[in-house]
Amino acid sequence: MNYLPIFLDVKGKKCLVVGGGDVSFRKTSLLVQAGALVTIVSPEIDAAFASLQGISHIPERFKPSHLDGFLLVIAATDEEATNELVSKEAKLRNIPVNVVDNPGLCTFIVPSILDRSPIVVAFSSGGASPVLIRMLRGKLETMIPHAYSQLAAFSARFRASVKTHITNPAKRRIFWENVFEGPIAEKVFSGDETAAESMLQAMIESESRGEQTSTGEVFLVGAGPGDPDLLTFKALRLMQKADVVLYDNLVSKPILEMTRRDAERIFVGKMRGNHTLPQEGINDLLVRLALEGKRVLRLKGGDPFIFGRGGEEIEKLAEHKINFQVVPGITAASGVSTYAGIPLTHRDYAQSCVFVTGHLKDNSMDLDWEMLARPKQTIVVYMGLQGLEMLCAQLIKHGLPENTPAAIVQQGTTPQQRVICGNLATLPGNPEIKTLQAPTLIIIGGVVSLRKKLAWFIPGH
Ligand code: SAH
Repeated sequence: MNYLPIFLDVKGKKCLVVGGGDVSFRKTSLLVQAGALVTIVSPEIDAAFASLQGISHIPERFKPSHLDGFLLVIAATDEEATNELVSKEAKLRNIPVNVVDNPGLCTFIVPSILDRSPIVVAFSSGGASPVLIRMLRGKLETMIPHAYSQLAAFSARFRASVKTHITNPAKRRIFWENVFEGPIAEKVFSGDETAAESMLQAMIESESRGEQTSTGEVFLVGAGPGDPDLLTFKALRLMQKADVVLYDNLVSKPILEMTRRDAERIFVGKMRGNHTLPQEGINDLLVRLALEGKRVLRLKGGDPFIFGRGGEEIEKLAEHKINFQVVPGITAASGVSTYAGIPLTHRDYAQSCVFVTGHLKDNSMDLDWEMLARPKQTIVVYMGLQGLEMLCAQLIKHGLPENTPAAIVQQGTTPQQRVICGNLATLPGNPEIKTLQAPTLIIIGGVVSLRKKLAWFIPGH
């Protein structure tokens, strides 16, 4: 280790920055954020400095006497000789000095940081590879939710009380691990600190009575249309936290593989000739697993609340007072249309867009055809393949021109994506339709004609 990492308390302390350009501005901002009283020595300074609180400016060239009384100094000028002078004079006075981008002249370096105050993670390669550090920082940035700030502040409020009630240090550690991994943390993340607080109080009480506490909860997570890159950070975080995963046909294999390695995986989808759980059974299973104290991930294709029956699942959880959260996902209409090169709205072609289900009930489709056949509107049909012929015929019957562009997309956003285009009159008769593999999405409206112009920029083209 070439440097000793330390965190310095500069609150209310005098720090000196030499130089008045943009590099100096960045370092000054950092010091100000940490509560330092900053003085800038430079004949001129950038206008941007006016936005910083509590700084003072000495409009002179640097001279050694400027260093008197300062806790530390940062040199950020573009004059090598000045930087060297600052370094030499600071060292003589035992004042810690940093010269930006010149480790040889420094007695301390300023790490790259990831700020989730009060949690701060500092990174440094000791000047060896700043780019590598930036990449690493970027990776961690996506893994540490911003809400960890709130979580750390929340736990600070209860540290003393927990220490009084749970005196055994090993038990206390496990207690906090349960808090940070369980539903209390999730409540804090979603901004409901009142609920988090009463849950924590209850946990402290049962812990001091020596009882086991159940921490079961359910995550109803939208996994998007198939491409794992379309997952949200929140979805990924909860996927890696779950003990049990309930998934169905719409969840792609690469996404399923991103769930925690040792999590139990239960298939609850429908397959031809295979008896799987009806919806009631899924609802009950979610409840049972959560009551066993498990963290249950219900992974859904697309968005859980768009033709996903997510509402029914959480109703049952609410009845049993089980903690749950719902994470929206990119719905098929949005993800699939984009990857197919079809914008859902466009100034010239569509000012509105409707999502409907084309699911056949007793061989008919119960849809508001007048509303659907309006001009300048895009219609996205989920679960519509079986009823495609009926759908197109009804739309023509209710006034949409036969040549209204229409497309059907197979397994959108995945490597198996296929797009067949036509219009209301020609699409149902296209022989290729018979070869399509589920899931498929139908898009109808003028916007489909834009595909020719736009498809070149689409991933996979
Ligand atoms: N909750 C899901 C939809 C569930 S209904 C969502 O928000 O996307 C299932 C239907 O979604 C399928 O029949 C199909 O019409 C559509 N769908 C889902 N993923 C798809 C994909 N990758 N490509 C094409 N259609 C898809």
